[in-house]
Amino acid sequence: MIPVFRPLAPCCLALSLLMAQGAVRGEPPAPLPSEARAARWCEELGRQLYSVSADACLGLDFRPGAMRSVEGRSLMRVDRLPHQARQTASNRPGSRAPRVMMIGGIHGDELTSVSIVFKWLERLAADDGPDIHWRVIPLANPDGLLASPAQRMNARGVDLNRNFDTPDWQTKAMDYWVGRTRRDPRRFPGDAAVSEPETRWLQDEIQDFVPDVIVSIHAPYGVLDFDGPAEEPKRFGRLRLNRLGVYPGSLGNYGGVFKGVPVITIELPHATRMPSAREQEAIWHDMLKWIGQNFVPGNLS
Ligand SMILES: [Zn+2]
Repeated sequence: MIPVFRPLAPCCLALSLLMAQGAVRGEPPAPLPSEARAARWCEELGRQLYSVSADACLGLDFRPGAMRSVEGRSLMRVDRLPHQARQTASNRPGSRAPRVMMIGGIHGDELTSVSIVFKWLERLAADDGPDIHWRVIPLANPDGLLASPAQRMNARGVDLNRNFDTPDWQTKAMDYWVGRTRRDPRRFPGDAAVSEPETRWLQDEIQDFVPDVIVSIHAPYGVLDFDGPAEEPKRFGRLRLNRLGVYPGSLGNYGGVFKGVPVITIELPHATRMPSAREQEAIWHDMLKWIGQNFVPGNLS
């Protein structure tokens, strides 16, 4: 197991270098706004997470989305297009590459759910697996991750994974919170469905990207969960299917039940200690195999 907390903040100077480039020449600093926002975001993540290098993060070409978090932080994403060699084939009717959206850090205190997305982004760069168009959102709740201490909820104390605009939110979300969780502040669904900018942005991203599959990463239950159509995965690495239930306002409910998009929830076994490199690879391998078998035309491997 590898710890993911970074106790000190010795990392990257990317942002200050960007800002200083202009100053050295006697000019005002002039990075593009999106580059400056990416640099600031990567620097904050690099300080908080052992496993994330701010400089490597900066090289991953993240772009800010159209909305910001409650505290004004950027909500970042990156697309990885299908292999160029297969792009032509994927443009043929009926054979387009599947679109997979991968989301980490909806709960800000599940640090491994963010770190492992960065590990898999590195893996993606070298992977020769199924031809997939990825949209990757490593950190859906930046205010939660960067709070001191890191917290599950967003800056307004809302559990984003209970705030999606599911058809049963109005009738069930508050009753569930009061009756089943006994007003657990860690599971507060908000004052209204999709009341939070982070949830609104995720819903907009789903509408914009139109994924075939959503992979949502959490911790620490050490299982797989699945909602929606398609053949359910039985096992990724050591994680076995164990349906945890459907909750008012959850992403699995919104995507899998309401929108009809299969949602895999990967629950890593620890929130602050990464799985071994071997286990990270096993989960990744089995996930690609399941996607390939279920969503890549003609691929039965
Ligand atoms: Zn979670």
